[in-house]
Amino acid sequence: MSNIPKSLKEKLQRNADYVSLVQRDCQISKEDGTRKYLFELSDGNFVESVMMRYEYGISVCVSSQVGCKMGCRFCASTLDGWLRNLTPSEILDQIYAISKDMGERVGHVVVMGTGEPLDNFDNLLKFIELLTDENGLNISQRNVTVSTCGIVPKIYELADKQLQITLALSLHASSQEKRKELMPVANSFDLSEVLKACDYYFEKTGRRMSYEYSLIAGQNDRDEDVRELVELFAKKNCHINLIPVNPIKERNYQSSSKEAVFAFKNKLEKNGINVTIRREMGRDIDGACGQLRRRHLESSRP
Ligand code: SAH
Repeated sequence: MSNIPKSLKEKLQRNADYVSLVQRDCQISKEDGTRKYLFELSDGNFVESVMMRYEYGISVCVSSQVGCKMGCRFCASTLDGWLRNLTPSEILDQIYAISKDMGERVGHVVVMGTGEPLDNFDNLLKFIELLTDENGLNISQRNVTVSTCGIVPKIYELADKQLQITLALSLHASSQEKRKELMPVANSFDLSEVLKACDYYFEKTGRRMSYEYSLIAGQNDRDEDVRELVELFAKKNCHINLIPVNPIKERNYQSSSKEAVFAFKNKLEKNGINVTIRREMGRDIDGACGQLRRRHLESSRP
């Protein structure tokens, strides 16, 4: 820019980053056009983001941290541990970069990539503020979903902000005992406490909770799991999203069969639970959280 004073240029150079990420890879699914991007941050770290196309437009899934410390057993993002939080602009830039690459406006954003968003709380809030600002991308809060493994005090804090975003809880089990086997975070917060916090979120914001449940063959797809889920959720105004687990090579979790997934859904529905099966997208391109970044890290290791 030649139309700003030299002193301002110097000040900007000292204080502001112009580009926070550079595209290093993009895999395009032959099945459904889903795109998985690998971005390099200015400190040499990598994050991944995903673009999915729905009838209502483009949805982008962003990462909130470099790596993750939550340790969920079936998740690839956590295998190399946690390195650092992303800044608000690094989360936001994933959306700008994808929008530019696609030549299209992004309509929906899900914070469901690598990292635990409520473990990067202040930056998450700033990111949402920038994302939804009318002078920015002006995306409606209602088109933003934040997914958490269940950090109870932060769910209360988020609820008190009274935003209109959707909160999704990664549930994955129908009892405290079973949840502990899959998600170490359950050692810190009992399932009953987590669900109470989710009820509070609904009360405070009027936004219906979404519960994510990844189906693992023989582990959480049995009749006993249906029974326990019905006990927990039949009386709640909420939505359960079933996701056949996306197997990662480091763990031997098998996805429930298609038939088992549909049977599970039907049984919940019969008991009055509002339930959908998540459309699986981009399976042919390392679709599961953290797989692309991990593959890149592995191939660049000496
Ligand atoms: N830390 C946040 C957001 C990132 S993970 C959270 O836990 O919600 C986004 C969602 O993908 C979570 O529900 C997570 O449990 C799920 N997930 C991670 N790895 C998966 C896999 N291999 N198969 C299916 N779902 C997976």
